[in-house]
Amino acid sequence: MEDLKDFGEPLEFWQYFYEITKIPRCSTYEDKIREYIKNEAEKLGFQTEVDMIKNLVVRIPSNRGSEGNKLRVVLQSHMDIVCEKNENVQHDFSKDPLKLKTIEIENERWLTAEGTTLGADNGVGIAYQLAIMKKIHDGSLVFDALDLDLLFTVDEERGLSGASQMDKNLISGKYLLNLDSEEDNRFTIGCAGGRVFKAELSYEKELVNNPNMRAIKLSISGLLGGHSGTDINKKRGNALKILTEIIWKISSKFNILINSLEGGNLTNAIPREANAIFFIDQSHKNELEAFLKEITPNIKNLYEGTDSNLVFSIDLKKDFTDKTSFSKDFQNKLVNLFYLIPNGPISLHPTSEGLVHTSLNFAVVHTLENVIEFKVSTRSLEQYDKDTLFEKLDTLFKMSGLVINIEIITIYPSWPPDFNSKLTEISKQVYKNLFDKEVTIQAIHAGLECAFFSYYYPDMDMISLGPYVLGGHSPDERLKIKSVAKIWKFLIALLQKLN
Ligand SMILES: [Zn+2]
Repeated sequence: MEDLKDFGEPLEFWQYFYEITKIPRCSTYEDKIREYIKNEAEKLGFQTEVDMIKNLVVRIPSNRGSEGNKLRVVLQSHMDIVCEKNENVQHDFSKDPLKLKTIEIENERWLTAEGTTLGADNGVGIAYQLAIMKKIHDGSLVFDALDLDLLFTVDEERGLSGASQMDKNLISGKYLLNLDSEEDNRFTIGCAGGRVFKAELSYEKELVNNPNMRAIKLSISGLLGGHSGTDINKKRGNALKILTEIIWKISSKFNILINSLEGGNLTNAIPREANAIFFIDQSHKNELEAFLKEITPNIKNLYEGTDSNLVFSIDLKKDFTDKTSFSKDFQNKLVNLFYLIPNGPISLHPTSEGLVHTSLNFAVVHTLENVIEFKVSTRSLEQYDKDTLFEKLDTLFKMSGLVINIEIITIYPSWPPDFNSKLTEISKQVYKNLFDKEVTIQAIHAGLECAFFSYYYPDMDMISLGPYVLGGHSPDERLKIKSVAKIWKFLIALLQKLN
């Protein structure tokens, strides 16, 4: 490593950042990093508190004591990192320090780690908090009207459980600054909440007696997929929706008996592949192929430019031994339901250009022994809309004539964006004064820890910010060195303004 002094202001940030890259902190293994932060704080005379789920808070009281007007501000980061490494790299995340190096890309200096994630997500947040603590202690920073709570959460990356199960008495305050964003010219002030559920439909298998019936496998592949929240507005194809559209069209024209429908994998991913196995009289096989040749180019056209590699394949399964199918009645109802189930963006935010307000991802379908299981993930910026979408789905399920059992897998709140909140206004103004440019204020269509804070503390005004980090969650993760000083400058100016 080069001399940390070359990295720009403040030196304390880089010293702490470097120290914590030596400390193991994969999600749910935060004990050592928590002990380190706690010791540093207590060494400097600050009080600390740990809640049941093991989030840590460091309290930095203003030097006004109980006198006069004071404001409480929370600065927050998460202690865990995503532990990913390249296959050819020897690295034990439970004990080995990360190997840092600087690289230059297009005249820009970046800090990265050799073969592993860097943990800038969210080590930068921890380092900012500790640098502020140190500088307040040594007197080089003074906020005489601010009580600061430095909050460090556990297990953000795996399931947001630190934030979701936080002790509500751990923090209080008017403002919260979350330090877990990754673009230094773009602050986040809202995010979608979600509800993920699993639905089950029981069915009886029937034997396919007709000896002329042949098993055919229709497969959809080559789609890009992507994140069911942040990529849902990219017009990418959903393999399950495309498959069920074709199956509906086939079954309204031909006598087919469906054996199985399969597709998708994770509820937070847009399904890239899906397939159906069905039986059709061999005398209709050529006609079926001709029909597919007629309709598939129309479907391909819809995804030209977003999913140009979409592939339809149809195979005769000669050695297929499972000669069973759904009953005709069940099959019709099921195919109708899957054809009609909504998918993708449902509505857009009324004022913020391009921001998805409410969406749905038809994520997974499995044909199991006597049960069809499917999973759906819904997201919305507003609780009301999320509930309404769920009511509509429930109504559709009832209209389908099928008996559907629903089990909620996860449910998490939204952080409804207020583009005119006081903290947003102050932040925009401070940014403009410092850099003579407008900062972009955005809400995102994915879950963040702030959603839980906004749910537990509805009056708390919050913003999320951070320096440039690229390639997060992968061994390519890198931190733009210059960006650290920029966000530091902003953070201190913002705190001064609030002071
Ligand atoms: Zn993070």
